[in-house]
Amino acid sequence: MLPPPAPPSSLPRRRRVLVIGAGFAGAHLAIDLAARGGLDVTLVDRKPYFEVVFANARALVEPAVCERSVIGVEELKPHGTFVCGEVVSLTDREAALADGRKLPFDYAAVCTGSAQALWKGDARGVGERREELRAQHAALRAAPAVVVVGGGPLGVELAGEILTDLPGKPVVVVHSGPRLLQDLPCRAGALARGWLEAHGCKVLLNDRVAAAAEPPGAAKGGEHGGGGIGQDGDGKSGGGGGARALRTERGEELPAGALLLWAVGARPATGFAAPALGGAVGEDGLIKVSGTLQVEGHPHIFALGDACSIPESKLAFLATGHAGVAARNIAALAAADAAADGGGGGGGAGAPQLAEWRPGMGLPRLMLVTVGRSWGITAIGSVAVGGWLASRVKSIAGFVEKTRRAVCAAP
Ligand SMILES: Cc1cc2nc3c(=O)[nH]c(=O)nc-3n(C[C@H](O)[C@H](O)[C@H](O)COP(=O)(O)OP(=O)(O)OC[C@H]3O[C@@H](n4cnc5c(N)ncnc54)[C@H](O)[C@@H]3O)c2cc1C
Repeated sequence: MLPPPAPPSSLPRRRRVLVIGAGFAGAHLAIDLAARGGLDVTLVDRKPYFEVVFANARALVEPAVCERSVIGVEELKPHGTFVCGEVVSLTDREAALADGRKLPFDYAAVCTGSAQALWKGDARGVGERREELRAQHAALRAAPAVVVVGGGPLGVELAGEILTDLPGKPVVVVHSGPRLLQDLPCRAGALARGWLEAHGCKVLLNDRVAAAAEPPGAAKGGEHGGGGIGQDGDGKSGGGGGARALRTERGEELPAGALLLWAVGARPATGFAAPALGGAVGEDGLIKVSGTLQVEGHPHIFALGDACSIPESKLAFLATGHAGVAARNIAALAAADAAADGGGGGGGAGAPQLAEWRPGMGLPRLMLVTVGRSWGITAIGSVAVGGWLASRVKSIAGFVEKTRRAVCAAP
């Protein structure tokens, strides 16, 4: 005769995994964990859509891109339970949302990326976000001129897109450093500047946009003169900004009424985690992790993507790679817990062997900066070359479709 079924209390408890942030790292992680089975996965994000953020510079000149690059969570492959809400605080065992809800967990993964409010958007739904991106395009078309603030990869790409798709629109790039693309080999900056100036762009180095001198009677606006897109905290597309005068700190006059496009450094969106994680959150906001992507001093919490301290470029394909390693490690730890619940202690096998992430996937540092639709800069290690290669390899439409195939149930 068969023995009676074991009482429910002796069954291994399903571990609860909370994935905070449904961007590249978080969406891939939740999908991977859900596919493994045996875990209660919850994915939480402040907005109910996944966005291919690096398509946004193209969407600014070609808004139809957002029909594919903004993806509702309901379109994603199975990813556990989705909760829409902003995580405002964390303890070692639960996350609290802005509306007071609590999300308990056994394992958590902080995948909140960086806070560049406007480029990412905070709309309440897919339709609203697409409207926001279309409004940004309309503001760009209507603006008499454009000032791109920041001469890193995003600023250079933005200027290139506008000069190519809206020829004749005056564009000024204002950069605080001595050369464009200053994190890439020296030649990259010279190549970018050469292309931009050859296409009529004014490039101002070692300078910043100054507070505007408002003409008498002008309505109070933001800190700076023109309307803007990408400015932290603004969150919406800006208009042309009227006729307020803009200038730089070194006294250069900027085109009146120019639309400001903010392409300046983003900070990791990890403030909510700092009290719980203490010294594991650095002054730069990055969460310190080991090669296994476990947070220093908090082995049941992981940090991935742009939010973590792995020394490598902050790129989408690397965030996606982190998700694979974290999924494997969380599943292994949860399986060991379940074995211990069953009284076997994992068969005496001890702590599970965890996978390690190789910074940059062990490849030489590679950066592709597209400038316009058929030219760009390819930087590998200390070498940079200009030409068609970057734009061929980094096809925005191609990346959007590749991402959809990876995350969507019906791409
Ligand atoms: C304008 C721009 C251009 C870029 N260009 C490129 C490029 O050309 N190539 C490339 O590979 N990479 C590019 N990147 C970088 C790439 O997009 C990031 O490396 C990638 O998105 C990082 O993924 P992530 O999952 O860490 O963060 P994200 O994809 O940013 O996702 C973070 C998620 O967390 C959510 N979130 C944040 N805080 C909270 C909270 N408190 N509560 C709930 N949810 C929260 C956000 O809503 C978001 O959905 C670009 C980024 C930007 C902003």
